[in-house]
Amino acid sequence: MIREIVHYDAPVLRAKGREVGAITPEIEKLVGDLLATMRHAHGVGLAAQQIGETVQVAVIDVTGITERPSKMWIGDKPVDPEGYMPLILINPVIKPTRTKITATEGCLSFPGLTLDISRGQRVAVKTRTLNGGTFEFDAAGLLGRAVMHETDHLHGRLFIDHINSEQRKVIREDLEYIKRGEPIPERSEENTP
Ligand SMILES: [Zn+2]
Repeated sequence: MIREIVHYDAPVLRAKGREVGAITPEIEKLVGDLLATMRHAHGVGLAAQQIGETVQVAVIDVTGITERPSKMWIGDKPVDPEGYMPLILINPVIKPTRTKITATEGCLSFPGLTLDISRGQRVAVKTRTLNGGTFEFDAAGLLGRAVMHETDHLHGRLFIDHINSEQRKVIREDLEYIKRGEPIPERSEENTP
């Protein structure tokens, strides 16, 4: 079922998700709803909080995105990420490398806003799977970034938490538009300092 995507600054986006215990039919339905909603919105990832649920479940799909490549390793052996999409994250635990890389990010809960965000260049991930097992892998590129962005959501963290006060000043008005549910106007060249 396609659900409504919650926008900034709905309080649920700041709520830490509870850990999933048993994989119940409700969790399976939530995964199905997240996938349907993410695809409908043409997103790369979506977390439960973004459809109003406070539980540690998120989905990612980087299939077909060639202009921003993804890398994936299982047991340090490189694998084709497309063979593992859609990726379902349940109670994910991540360890990003200390080496950081900056790239552009958007978020379905912040329509029209893109930001340059610095995150670990590569991330080690351990997640539960829908059939009750665990899955461990490493990710980099767009996939790595998506895993870190979605895992943030599951703990009530947002990509705007990663910017400095200078950048925050620049987007202050944009955030007001999003809060009011209005589109962000195009910033003209003359107004760009
Ligand atoms: Zn997001």
